[in-house]
Amino acid sequence: MKEIFLLKLGEIVLKGANKRQFESRLRQNVRRRMKLYGNFDVYLMQSTVYVEPMDDACDVDAAWEACRSIFGVVSLCRCRPCEKNTDAIFEAIENYLGDDLDCAKSFKVESKRSDKRFPLTSIQLSQEIGGRLAEAHPTVEVDVHHPDYTVYVEVRDLAAYVHGPAEPGAGGLPTGVGGRAMILLSGGIDSPVAAYMIGKRGVEIEAVHFFSYPYTSQLAKDKVIELGRLVTKYTGRMTINVVSFTEIQEAIRDNCPEEYFTLIMRRFMMEISMRIAKHDGCGALITGENLGQVASQTMEAMGVTGAVVDMPIFMPLIGFDKEEIVTIARKIGTMETSILPYEDCCTVFTPKHPKTKPTLGQLLNAEKNLDREALIQRALENIEKIKVNYYDEAVQ
Ligand code: ATP
Ligand code: MG
Repeated sequence: MKEIFLLKLGEIVLKGANKRQFESRLRQNVRRRMKLYGNFDVYLMQSTVYVEPMDDACDVDAAWEACRSIFGVVSLCRCRPCEKNTDAIFEAIENYLGDDLDCAKSFKVESKRSDKRFPLTSIQLSQEIGGRLAEAHPTVEVDVHHPDYTVYVEVRDLAAYVHGPAEPGAGGLPTGVGGRAMILLSGGIDSPVAAYMIGKRGVEIEAVHFFSYPYTSQLAKDKVIELGRLVTKYTGRMTINVVSFTEIQEAIRDNCPEEYFTLIMRRFMMEISMRIAKHDGCGALITGENLGQVASQTMEAMGVTGAVVDMPIFMPLIGFDKEEIVTIARKIGTMETSILPYEDCCTVFTPKHPKTKPTLGQLLNAEKNLDREALIQRALENIEKIKVNYYDEAVQ
C-alpha cells in the first residue's frame, strides 16, 4: 500500500472570507511544485491538502523535501491510507509504524474522527488500537501522558490514515495571496532573510541588486544571484534586476560632500528600485535594514532615504537583534553564502565620518550638482534581468 502526504493548513483556516482563495492558491502552489517530481494527485479536503503519488516513477522523498518549504502549510506528515475499520487500521500501523514503535520506550494512540459515521468515538478507537498494539509490542509501555512516541489515526472522508508525529511546515501564507514586492538584495546576511520573511506573508518576491563593476567583482554578483536562488526555495521563482551603479557612485564621489556619500547613494538605490518595482507590478519595497546597526540605519537616515519613495517600504528586520537574524539565515540556508568575503557596493567610497542625523534639506543641497534624473534614466536603461529558481535543477 502506498504512502501519501497530508499537509495541514495553518492560519489560512481562520481567515473567513479569504479562506477559499487561500486554499485554492495553496493547492495550486503544491500542484506546481509536485509536477517536478512525477505524477502526483493533489487535492484539498477538510482544510488539508492531500498529496498522493500516482505511480512508482514518483520521486517521493524529493517531493516530501519540497513540501517542507511551501508557505501556508503549518504541519505535514507522511502517512499510510487504509480502510475505515479497526482491523485494517491496526494492520496498517503494524506494517507502516511497527519498527518505529519498537524503538520507543512508551507510546500512545491519538485518534481523530472527522467522519462521524465511523462507529467508534475517537477515544474508543484509541483504546481499541492501543490495546492491540500493547499486546503486539509487550516491551513498549502505554503512557498516555508523556509518551515517547505517538501513533496517530485519522478517520477522514475517503479513508483512514495512520502516521507518526507530524513535522512543522514552513508556516505563513501561500505564495501569491499577498501581491508582489521588491527586495533590495545585497550580498549580506540581512536582505535574504528580509525577503524570506515578507515572502512568508504570501508575497511574491522580485529583487534588485546594485553592482559597481570594477569596484565590486563578478564574484560578488554571483554571490547575490546565489542568495536569490536560495531564497526561491521558499518564495518560488524570482527575477533579479542587476543595476549597474558605477556611474552613479563616481558622480557622487566627484560632485558631493563626502559625509553624505552613503545617504545619497541609498537615495538613488531607493528611487531606482521603486521605478523598477512599479514597472514590474510590485506594490512595496523590502530592505534588510535594522535600527542602529550601521550609520545609515538611524531614524533620520531612513527618513531621508525613504523620502524619495512613494510606496510602502517593508523592513521586517527593523527590531531584530543580529543573533535572531543569523538564526533565521541558518534555518533557511542562506548564511553560508552570505558570509563569503566579497565586497558590496555600499562599501565603495564609504565616508570616514558619515552623517548620522541628516535632514532632507541638507541632502537636497548635497545633491544639487548632480543631474539625478539623467543618471537614473541611464541606470534604468542598462538593467540585466536574471531569473533564478531553486527548483530548476529538479526539472532537468
Ligand atoms: P545586508 O546584510 O542585507 O547587506 P547590511 O546590514 O549590510 O544589510 P546595509 O549595507 O546598510 O546593511 O544595507 C541595508 C539594506 O540596503 C540591505 O539590507 C539591502 O536591502 C539594501 N542594500 C544594500 N546594498 C545593496 C545592493 N548593493 N543592492 C541592493 N540592495 C542593497
Ligand atoms: Mg550590506
